[in-house]
Amino acid sequence: MTSSSTSSARFPRFSTHGVPTRCWCGEGITTFGYSTVENRYRRFYRCEIARDRKTENHLFKWIDEALIKEIRMVDAKHERVALGITKFEERVMEKLKEKVYLGFARVAQEMKQKLKIATVAMVVVGAIVGIWTSLTV
Ligand SMILES: [Zn+2]
Repeated sequence: MTSSSTSSARFPRFSTHGVPTRCWCGEGITTFGYSTVENRYRRFYRCEIARDRKTENHLFKWIDEALIKEIRMVDAKHERVALGITKFEERVMEKLKEKVYLGFARVAQEMKQKLKIATVAMVVVGAIVGIWTSLTV
């Protein structure tokens, strides 16, 4: 007996990649042991319905092969998540740099404005002192 993925198009509701949770027919999966000489004691996934309806095409998967595929899928997902985190960190750092730069620019602008006001005030005070001094002497 071999694993068949051709019937998955007939029952597209359930994913049968890696470790399956349901058969294509919607029935839950059970584990069974094979009893032929070449695969004695080898475990496989199958639904209960398949046991009674041997002519129908139901999901069949060797557990050892399914576990290896599941591990590869988890590894691939882990790599995608790690890449997503790296990209997210880069975007956050870029936004942070932008905000810091804008903050510095705003503070510099405010300091320039205050310096202008202070300069004008000093010129006015100097002029007043100059005029007062020339009048009192
Ligand atoms: Zn089934």
